[in-house]
This record gives sequence, C-alpha cells and structure tokens, in this order.
Amino acid sequence: MKAIDPVTSRIDRVRALFPQVKVTCLLVSGMANIRYLTGFTGSNALLLVDRDSTVFFTDGRYTTQAQQEVSDAEVVTPKKGLWPEALKRLKGRRGLVAGFDSGVSFALSKVILKGLGEKRTRAVAGVVERLRGVKDEEEIAAIRASAELNSRVHAEILKLVKPGVTERDLAAELDYRMRRAGASGPSFDSIVAAGPNSALPHAHPTSRAVGPGQFLLFDHGTMLNGYCSDMTRTVWIRSSEAADLGKARELYSTVLEAHEQARLAVRAGARCSQVDAAARRVIAAKGWGKYFSHSTGHGVGLEIHESPRVAATSKDKLPAGAVITIEPGVYLPGFGGVRIEDMVVVRENGAEGLTPSPKEFTPI
Ligand code: ZN
Ligand code: ZN
Repeated sequence: MKAIDPVTSRIDRVRALFPQVKVTCLLVSGMANIRYLTGFTGSNALLLVDRDSTVFFTDGRYTTQAQQEVSDAEVVTPKKGLWPEALKRLKGRRGLVAGFDSGVSFALSKVILKGLGEKRTRAVAGVVERLRGVKDEEEIAAIRASAELNSRVHAEILKLVKPGVTERDLAAELDYRMRRAGASGPSFDSIVAAGPNSALPHAHPTSRAVGPGQFLLFDHGTMLNGYCSDMTRTVWIRSSEAADLGKARELYSTVLEAHEQARLAVRAGARCSQVDAAARRVIAAKGWGKYFSHSTGHGVGLEIHESPRVAATSKDKLPAGAVITIEPGVYLPGFGGVRIEDMVVVRENGAEGLTPSPKEFTPI
C-alpha cells in the first residue's frame, strides 16, 4: 500500500475547508502553520495554498533549506518581498477571495486589502490551527519524546536542590541540561519559584535561595524536533520544624486530587469546560476556589499554547488526538503555591499520559 505523505494530506485538508470559510485560496503566514503544512523549519516564509497549486515564498537566505525541506510546492525567492510577490500573482484574478490567517498584523492586513480589494479578501482565523488541534500519531510520538526528555532533565535538576541554591541557578541548569540532552532549547522561559514566589503563577526566576519548610515550584518544557513539552512539579523542602508540613501536605493532596479528577473527565467528546470544572470542584470544596486563578489546561504542539483551551469559558469539545495539559494550581499568598502539570493525549476512552515524572508529595 502506498504511504500517504502527511504533509501533502495536510495541505489537501486545508483546501477542503475553503468552501466552509468562503475563500478560493489561503495565504498562510504564521510560522508554526507553515511548518505544519510544509515541513519548513526556517523563520521567514509565506505560503499560498491555491485551489490546485501551492506556492512557497521565502527570502534568499533560505533557498537551499527550502529546497531540501519543502516538497510539493513551488519554491519562490522574490527579490522585492514575499507579500508583494504573492499579491502580484493574485491580482486581477477572476472570482478571487483570498483568505489570510491570524499571523497577519493590522498594518499588513491593510496592505493586503489595498492590494487585492476589500471584497476579494477575507480574514479567516484558525483554519490551520483547527487542523493542528488534532495530532496524528507521528506528532504524538514527537511530543511524547519531548515530554520524556523534559522529565529526565527534571529528575536531574531535583538532585541539585539544596539550601542556598537560587531560583536562577536552577533555571540556568534546566536550560543547559535540556540542550545537552538533545533539545533545541526550552519551549518557554523556565519557571523556578521558591517559597512565597511559588504563589505567583507566572513567577520569573530571581536570586532568591531555596529555603527549608517551603515549596519549590518548577514549570518547564523542552523543544525537541519542533515539538513542545510542558510540565510542572512542586516539591517540599524539608525543615526541622514540622509547623507547616501539615498544611503543605493538605494543599498538595488537594491539587493532586484536582489533577486526577480533571484527568478522569478527559475523553473524546467531553467539553473542555467540564474538564476544568472537575478540577475546580475539588479545590472549591476546600475553600480555596479563589486561589485557583487560571484555567486547567491548554493544547500543546508546535507551539506551547495551542487550541483547545481547557477553561471554564471554553465552548470547545475535546477531539480525539488532541494533546492538552492538565495543570490545576492553588496559590496561597504569603505561604506558597502548588501546581501539578502533565500532558495527556485525548483518546476515545480517556486520557493517555505523556509525562512520566512521578506526582506524589516529595519532601527533599
Ligand atoms: Zn507549564
Ligand atoms: Zn502549561
């Protein structure tokens, strides 16, 4: 049986959506969308998906790379800019309705409208993103490899935790070890938050040292072969005084239970809002509802935040093959915060885990 080239079939699937979004061609400019559709890993390109042809525009720096990476598209390296060349090719064509995606800035959208005419252009958000929300098995394998590498690096970092080491030291070690382990880098700025800083959901690493009787929160991800991973673990730094240990255990076990309940709510067809509610219910029952100040999860793939959004206000249902995070957290001001984040694949019957790191309460 002839193998189907996934890249070709992705472009065909974009074309199949043209009638639905009422366009006759689509100009794709978001780099993650272009990578998804063509395999191109460079940083400057424009893709014209037409009814029966595909044209890939890039600049002179990428001529060789584009020829190697991009198949099934005409590769063009125009002298006077990618957009002018693309618009020149479309101008004057009968019956044209050119769609452009959310990678286009406001200023650029004006150039497109001026170039082609208002009635012949259409801003269409999320066409390629919708396809990217459902991963094929090849992508899931790539994300799993990224999550496994991230978990291995996490285990290495835990060995470096001792009183006096700073958030910045640990964040720098994370980034260094990710690269040494084969990642192209972190998939977002690593978060290491000690003590009261762990109560800030988006803390940046500071010179604060790890201290006894406090939480230490790590949120980090790797970029491997273009695919992101994302995980959060929170550990407890031992202290000779047991005063806060009881509260720490209670906080931790509540967040872990919220994590497990959200995970149990995951299956193909489930509403994202129900998955969010499953986590929120556990935390609210403890009276900590207002301290769970973000949504339960998000899609992950070529980008760190993708569709679907696993939030109370989301109208989406989870499709089979979506890769999402489950990351409830509770942040008690002045005391500290706990977040526990794994990545899972949405399957027909439930969630399949991608993050191998253990999640039990860990005093160090
Ligand atoms: Zn994260
Ligand atoms: Zn996340």
